[in-house]
Amino acid sequence: MKIAILPGDGIGPEIVAQACRVLEALRSDGLPVETEHGVLGGAAYDRHGEPYPEATRRLVHAADAVLLGAVGGPQYDKLDRPLRPERGLLAIRKDLNLFANLRPALLYPELAGASTLKPEVVAGLDIMIVRELTGDIYFGQPRGIAVNELGEREAYNTMRYSESEVRRIARVAFGIAMKRSRRLCSVDKANVLETTEFWKEIVTDVGREFPEVELSHMYVDNAAMQLVRNPKQFDVMVTGNIFGDILSDEASMLTGSIGMLPSASLDENNKGLYEPSHGSAPDIAGRDLANPLATILSLAMMLRYSFNRDDVATRVESAVKKVLAAGLRTADIYQPGCEKVSCTAMGDAVVAAL
Ligand code: NAD
Repeated sequence: MKIAILPGDGIGPEIVAQACRVLEALRSDGLPVETEHGVLGGAAYDRHGEPYPEATRRLVHAADAVLLGAVGGPQYDKLDRPLRPERGLLAIRKDLNLFANLRPALLYPELAGASTLKPEVVAGLDIMIVRELTGDIYFGQPRGIAVNELGEREAYNTMRYSESEVRRIARVAFGIAMKRSRRLCSVDKANVLETTEFWKEIVTDVGREFPEVELSHMYVDNAAMQLVRNPKQFDVMVTGNIFGDILSDEASMLTGSIGMLPSASLDENNKGLYEPSHGSAPDIAGRDLANPLATILSLAMMLRYSFNRDDVATRVESAVKKVLAAGLRTADIYQPGCEKVSCTAMGDAVVAAL
């Protein structure tokens, strides 16, 4: 298992260090892990003058999976756009052809109080949103701002999906549904948009290859509403890039704790980039305050989706549950009556629980 480690910026190095300790513990138990560190984002700009340097490109191409902390920071905000840390993230996703973004929204019962929704609505929530990441209106041509034939300025983007793009994301989503409770909800706006009517038709067709999975369809406006009304009705959801962008953020906030949420972006061969859903949190960087659990849970996703080691992934997730059940909390998820711990101490506890 060759893993490229890219700590990134801000709290990135702190949280990734804790995930590396978990990996080290698994390695000493016999997991065949090889790791190599590289730079991405602001850290890469500082060292090489660009956010996704050639050395990092070679490193991630040679690896089976990539673990990323987060990129970005105020010191880079004045750079020319192509040099900014976020460009490094876009570049690595594009370069590795990561078209499937997996965003779980899972609420541990101990943290139900952190959600802004009533605990009975969200306790036990466990949704996986599968978002297409490389197509749709974010990339469709033509796009632009121009003067129309009436001499007025107008702006336009194009929502497009090819059949192969829909088929491959649908297959990923059905595959994940097979590993979970075999229910998949495809989200579209087929009543208004031809692109998503086509999406619905192709997803339905792919569904014939997965007769064990119960497929349902929902309009995106209803899905947005149902996610806050009765989120526990969902298991796996699959949708295009723009709807997925919005719904996955909505779903993640049902849990109320951004420091807990992992994510994965996969290519056609299940090679993946794994990273917490949050950013580089410059406001708390370097103070040993960050919550490392989203990164540790991203590592668990890597073991499950890129290395097919459900057993080891479950072991890591169980260790996290144990630590939460014992009442340990970093500042972002702290509640009275619990024990407030640092990033490092949280890492210590997970390694001990393993
Ligand atoms: P952010 O997610 O970094 O922070 C939002 C808030 O959540 C902050 O108060 C932060 O302290 C807190 N927070 C985030 N992660 C936490 C953790 N693990 N533990 C405890 N608290 C945590 O979002 P932002 O402030 O909008 O962005 C900061 C920087 O991160 C920007 O440069 C932005 O471009 C970048 N960013 C990067 C990514 C990425 O690398 N994928 C994603 C989003 C933002």
